[in-house]
Amino acid sequence: MCKGSASLLYNGHAMSCLFCKIIDGTIPSTAVYQDDECYAFADIHPQAPVHVLIAPRQHIVSLEETDADDRELLGHLIWAASEIAKSKGLFKGYRVVINTGSDGGQTVDHLHVHLLGDRPLGWPPG
Ligand code: AMP
Ligand code: ZN
Repeated sequence: MCKGSASLLYNGHAMSCLFCKIIDGTIPSTAVYQDDECYAFADIHPQAPVHVLIAPRQHIVSLEETDADDRELLGHLIWAASEIAKSKGLFKGYRVVINTGSDGGQTVDHLHVHLLGDRPLGWPPG
C-alpha cells in the first residue's frame, strides 16, 4: 500500500524516497522507536536537544495525501510521539510538528512527525 508518487513503488516503498531507504535500512539512521506501523529516528540536523522523526513504514507523501482511511495511522504516529517524549523524560513539555507542503516547510516527501524538546521552544515558528 502506498499514497502518492505511484511510480517506482515496491512493497509500499518509493524506491527514490530518502525516508523509505532509512526505514528499510539502506541508509543508516539512529533508531529511537519502531513497531509494525512506524519507524522513529534521530533527526540528522537536530533543532533541539531531542529531535526525533516518526515516519509511517508506508510511503505517504504528506498529510495532504491522507484520507479517512489513515485516521488510525495518524493517531498512532502522534501516540508514538507521546511515548517517545515520556521515554526521553520531556516532562516540562515538547512540540509535535508535521510540516506539510512547500509553505509548511516540508523538505522530505514522506510523511513524518517531528518531536522537539528539552529546551524552551519559541512561538510563533518562522
Ligand atoms: P521536513 O523539513 O519537515 O520535511 O523535515 C525533514 C527532516 O529530515 C529535517 O529536519 C532534516 O534534518 C531531516 N533529515 C534529512 N535527511 C536525514 C537523514 N539522512 N537522517 C535523519 N534525518 C534527516
Ligand atoms: Zn517514502
